[in-house]
Amino acid sequence: MNDQTKFLLDEREIPTHWYNVAADLKNPPSPPLHPGTHEPIGPEALAPLFPLALIQQEVSQERFIEIPEEVREVYRLWRPTPLLRARRLEQALGTPAHIYYKYEGVSPAGSHKPNTAVPQAYYNRVEGVHRISTETGAGQWGSALAFACNLFDIECKVYMVRVSYEQKPYRRSLMHTWGASVVPSPSSDTGAGRAILARDPESPGSLGIAISEAMEDAATREDTHYSLGSVLNHVLLHQTVIGQEALKQMELAGEYPDVVIGCIGGGSNFAGLAFPFVADKLNGRRNPRILTAEPTAAPSLTRGEYAYDFGDTAEMTPLLKMYTLGHTFVPAEIHAGGLRYHAMAPLVSQLYHEGVIEACAYSQVPVFDAAVQFARAEGIVPAPESAHAIKAAVDEALRAKEAGERRVILFNLSGHGFLDLGAYDAYFAGKLSDYEYPAEKVREAMKALPKV
Ligand SMILES: *Cc1c(COP(=O)(O)O)cnc(C)c1O
Repeated sequence: MNDQTKFLLDEREIPTHWYNVAADLKNPPSPPLHPGTHEPIGPEALAPLFPLALIQQEVSQERFIEIPEEVREVYRLWRPTPLLRARRLEQALGTPAHIYYKYEGVSPAGSHKPNTAVPQAYYNRVEGVHRISTETGAGQWGSALAFACNLFDIECKVYMVRVSYEQKPYRRSLMHTWGASVVPSPSSDTGAGRAILARDPESPGSLGIAISEAMEDAATREDTHYSLGSVLNHVLLHQTVIGQEALKQMELAGEYPDVVIGCIGGGSNFAGLAFPFVADKLNGRRNPRILTAEPTAAPSLTRGEYAYDFGDTAEMTPLLKMYTLGHTFVPAEIHAGGLRYHAMAPLVSQLYHEGVIEACAYSQVPVFDAAVQFARAEGIVPAPESAHAIKAAVDEALRAKEAGERRVILFNLSGHGFLDLGAYDAYFAGKLSDYEYPAEKVREAMKALPKV
């Protein structure tokens, strides 16, 4: 064991390949289905939306996929990211556990999301695409993609959920700084947006509506592709640079985690850290516990059903086999906006279904308790999303203390919270409420699942 606090890698040690967990799964993944016919769709169905390279990655069974040198060149701006041991948090908790965290908040956009935004922009550029549309809720994904598009000289159009557009002006400013154009959704720029505005001019918008607008934009313009910041296989694939670096850094620390933890919205930052450890587990080299932490307001793994469902509210996407609360379910407005999604990435869903990974759920007040405890011990102010992973790590450390066990815990600190300080203010003012599992709303939404 090594006594250091910070474990750094040289930039020559940025991974050369992404790790594809599909190669190691016990069962083949269930194919995406056509939303109308319910027949499996071929890669060509996705061609109007995504570049071929990403479609191939989406269905690839190859274990390692080479990272283009142009992408590694951009990764050098912030990768490898540091791995830290949370010694002061361990002391504050009085636990014999060792707590490590991988810190993705050092990227230009402040989260893990540029790890996939950069290759997505790159492959589009290589295939001659000059414009990309996307949606964003609180703005983390929109800002990551704006950053990446700017580097590859691609025009970026972001449909931002109207309430966030008005309440979270600073991520909008970030997107403008990187040259993207941002409109509040619903907007008058698309048919889907105009239809909603005609019915409800004051519509606050939702992620489902914004997805419909961005997809319509891409589908109706020859020069435009669409881009998604989580859920899909190729997005999870790109994030595996996190876990590959963490494996090396844990080796520098002279330890191997007993438990690996990530928060989950669509599943990408969790997958990024955890999948290389899942590989060790599936191949029988090691046997870490692998744990996801989700909000009780959108508990797709702990309370959802494993079924084919739409990825969006407007029923435009292919059907994916995943844990879902129903595509018409709209989660309560918790401050961890990045975790407000009705379903879970198919690859994460399958691993949960096969018993390889575990899940727990937390409501927002205890999550902010843990966020503030972490900030006071370690200095970094975490994003509210990441604080779900912190809460799970703290609980693991306290259980280790009770058991008198030296457990090694590793979690992903997916982003910093500098643009979420309003949420911290609400917490300190006692204005945060806990949303418990909305059983009735979910039962209602489950009735709308497609009958496959
Ligand atoms: C978007 C976001 C998440 C949630 O998305 P995943 O795809 O589940 O990772 C978590 N943390 C941060 C900081 C985010 O920006």
